[in-house]
Amino acid sequence: VEDSLSVADVRWQSAAQCSGADFEFVPAVENPGDLYFVQGMWCNACPVRPECLLYALLYNQEGYWGGTDTAERRKLSKRGDRAKCPVCRSKAMISTGEHQICQHCAVSWAGDPEPRIPEGAAG
Ligand code: SF4
Ligand SMILES: [Zn+2]
Repeated sequence: VEDSLSVADVRWQSAAQCSGADFEFVPAVENPGDLYFVQGMWCNACPVRPECLLYALLYNQEGYWGGTDTAERRKLSKRGDRAKCPVCRSKAMISTGEHQICQHCAVSWAGDPEPRIPEGAAG
C-alpha cells in the first residue's frame, strides 16, 4: 500500500454509485457534456457525493468527482463570496462568514472573511 493512501480514509468508495461503471472518469480531455452525463447517470443519486468531492479537492484529483469537473473544483478552491454556486448555479446559499454553503447541492467553499473595500474608497 502506498504511503499517500494511508492518510486518506477511502471507505466511502464502497458506497459509490459509480462503482463498476464502464466510463472514463479521468479522461485526457474533460467537457461539459460528459460532466452532465456523469451527474445524471451516477453523481446526482450518489450517497457519498460530498465525501467524493472533498477527496478530489484535498488530493487535487483530475477528472469527474462528486458531480464536478477539474475546472469547477479549481473555482471552488479559490476564496471569495459568490452570488451563485459555481457547481449548480443555485443562488440559495448560507454564508457563515468563513464559508459559503450551497443549499441546493451542499458544496461549500471559503468565503471572504471581510468584505473588500474598493481602492480609494476609505480615503
Ligand atoms: S459522487 Fe459521482 S464520481 Fe463520486 S463516487 Fe459518487 S457517483 Fe462516483
Ligand atoms: Zn450548488
